[in-house]
This record gives sequence, structure tokens and C-alpha cells, in this order.
Amino acid sequence: MTSPDYPRFDLDGMTALVTGASRGIGHDLALALADAGAATLAGVRPGGEPPAGMDAVELDVRDVDRVRAGVDAAVERLGRLDVLVNNAGVGTNHDALDATEAEWDEVLAVNLKGLFFCCQAAGRHMVERGYGRIVNMSSQAGSVGILRHAAYCASKGGVEQLTRVLALEWGPRGVTVNAVAPTFIRTPGTAERLDRPEFLADVLSRIPVGRVGGPMDVAGAVVFLASPAAALVNGAVLAVDGGWTAQ
Ligand code: NAP
Repeated sequence: MTSPDYPRFDLDGMTALVTGASRGIGHDLALALADAGAATLAGVRPGGEPPAGMDAVELDVRDVDRVRAGVDAAVERLGRLDVLVNNAGVGTNHDALDATEAEWDEVLAVNLKGLFFCCQAAGRHMVERGYGRIVNMSSQAGSVGILRHAAYCASKGGVEQLTRVLALEWGPRGVTVNAVAPTFIRTPGTAERLDRPEFLADVLSRIPVGRVGGPMDVAGAVVFLASPAAALVNGAVLAVDGGWTAQ
């Protein structure tokens, strides 16, 4: 009797690039992809530090020319690019009436336009090779409204729609495109808000599992989507939100 082909969750022999890998979720995602077996490069802004022991490519996602150069450099260094994780992101936290044009432009430039051109730059290589895995960082804010996060919610809703379109265009060519949508994760980007007891209590009241996340909660979903086990998952948005958006 032959044994069945069990799903494989490791990334042995693969190569990966993570944007915004200098801190927070991206930093730990890069480490988790490496731990799962992928030769991983950290995308960091000029002057940014990659995770200890990891090589970096310079990548400010707001500059389309530098995005293309950074992705090309990653392909050259790694030999090929199997996995791209579009993690770089910024947020704001105030009433829509107080939003400024500059903040709106910055959030959309990083979270949506920058993410798209990273997908495009990596997608060119992946489609040509007929293989690739792209994982885009959305948020629960991509599907439900979060007070004081107008530009952020708009950007993450856009990320989810982009993910679906690219999945349709590139899926037939061997490249899957998916997104993960975390709830509040404790990082340098959220620590100040989560340290306020009334804010934390409100957040916890909306998360059925009763805790906020850590970066490795997100890493579990990203490694899965990058792994051979997820070969038929395409155009999906995987919630990592303890049930926030289930209600
Ligand atoms: P964070 O701690 O603020 O880190 C953001 C990362 O993005 C940093 O490495 C930062 O680099 C990088 N970045 C910012 N602007 C960039 C640019 N123009 N080009 C390249 N990199 C840039 O954020 P985080 O909490 O880890 O969030 C990471 C991702 O997860 C974001 O997309 C965020 O929207 C998403 N997310 C977070 C949460 C959460 O609760 N934390 C929940 C859902 C989704 P520098 O160090 O150079 O600034």
C-alpha cells in the first residue's frame, strides 16, 4: 500500500522576501519564514535593521522605482523569489474630521499603492517562472469599520480587493495571492494604544478568544499560506482575529 501525500507545511528549499521587516509583525514573520525553511531576505527602509543574522534589501514601498530595484536585487541574491509577504504598513488614529490630506496620502501610498507595486514587481518574476506565493497584510479593518481609522480601513479594504483581482489574474499562471487579516497585535505600532486600559478593555470585549494577538499568531497564517499545503488557497482573506469579524 502506498502512503498518501500528506500536506506539507514547511518551506524547505523556498526563498522569501518580507517588506517592513525591521520591527513588529514583519520582523517576526521574516524569522518564522526562515524557521520554516525558507531562505529569507528582510525588506527594510534605508538605515533600517533586519532581524539578527538575516540579510536585507533596501525597500521603501512608497518609491516605485526603488520597489522594482529592491525586488530585482532580492531575486538576484536569492536566485529566484518563491514567496513575497507584503507586510509594510502605517496607520492613523483620529476622527475622520481631523484627517489631513498628507496623512491620507501617506497611508494609501504605503498600505495600498506600495503594496500593489511590490506585488507587480514580484509578480513579473513569479508569473514568468510559473510559481509564486504572495501574502498581503490586511487587517480586520479591511472588512469591518474601526473608529478613528478611516484611511487605514479604506487602505485595507483596497488590499483585500487587490488580492482577489491578482488571484484571478495570476492563479492560472501558478501564482497564488492571498491575504491575512489580523485583529490587534501587540507591536511597536500598537503598544501605546494597547497600554491604555480603557482602549484594551474595549478591544478585548470584541475578541471572543479574549486576548490580543502576538506576531507569531500572524506568522502561523502566513507560513501556512506560503506552504505547499495551501496550494489550492487563492484569493482568500484569512482572518487571524480571535473571532472579532465573526459577529
Ligand atoms: P509597525 O510595528 O508600525 O511596523 C511597521 C513596519 O512597516 C516597520 O518595519 C516599518 O519600517 C515598515 N514601513 C513603514 N513604512 C514603510 C515604507 N514606506 N516602506 C517600507 N516599510 C515601511 O507595524 P505592525 O503593527 O508590525 O504592522 C505590520 C503590518 O500588519 C501592517 O501592514 C499593519 O497594517 C498590519 N496589521 C497590524 C495589526 C496590529 O495590530 N499590529 C493588525 C492588523 C494588521 P520602519 O521601521 O522603517 O518604520
